[in-house]
Amino acid sequence: MIHLIQGDITKFEGDAIVNAANSSLLGGGGVDGAIHRAAGPELLQECRTLGGCPTGEAKLTQAYKLPCKYIIHTVGPIYRDGNHGEAEALKSCYANSLKLALQHDVKSIAFPNISTGVYGYPKQEAGQIAVQTVKEFLSEHPELEVWFYCFDDENYRLYQQLL
Ligand code: ADP
Repeated sequence: MIHLIQGDITKFEGDAIVNAANSSLLGGGGVDGAIHRAAGPELLQECRTLGGCPTGEAKLTQAYKLPCKYIIHTVGPIYRDGNHGEAEALKSCYANSLKLALQHDVKSIAFPNISTGVYGYPKQEAGQIAVQTVKEFLSEHPELEVWFYCFDDENYRLYQQLL
């Protein structure tokens, strides 16, 4: 089942949230900064042990001071012109995060709008990829609850239409 909410993903009280991280996994701005601030410094300590993460892949940590159990860090593509594998990479972010979630017995997971901030992915196209990839996964795993956390008004309106 898919749910839509506008708000701060760090407040999610389900099993896992996804972080739109950068490949160092050592923190950044946007949702990444918000997650590190809310989770506390132990998150950075654990992230330091992970050796970064390639674009499109995902790695799991504990959630420390957050109300959820796990943080799944995935690295979205930096959007150039759409001809550099951006769509495939963005799809992989959603698919790999969902696979990793299932391996850890996650029953509810929240996604931000990966790559649509500093990484510049056009929001409409990114939203279509996110919704399509999640729907494909849910057709195989209908027991999973997926929440799209939209932060900005534009993404929230877009997702209302897409869903
Ligand atoms: P990226 O580098 O992948 O583009 P950003 O963090 O810059 O990552 O932006 C990704 C999305 O996260 C944007 O749509 C932004 O509005 C959103 N965002 C920023 N802060 C939060 C938050 N606290 N909770 C949920 N989404 C957030």
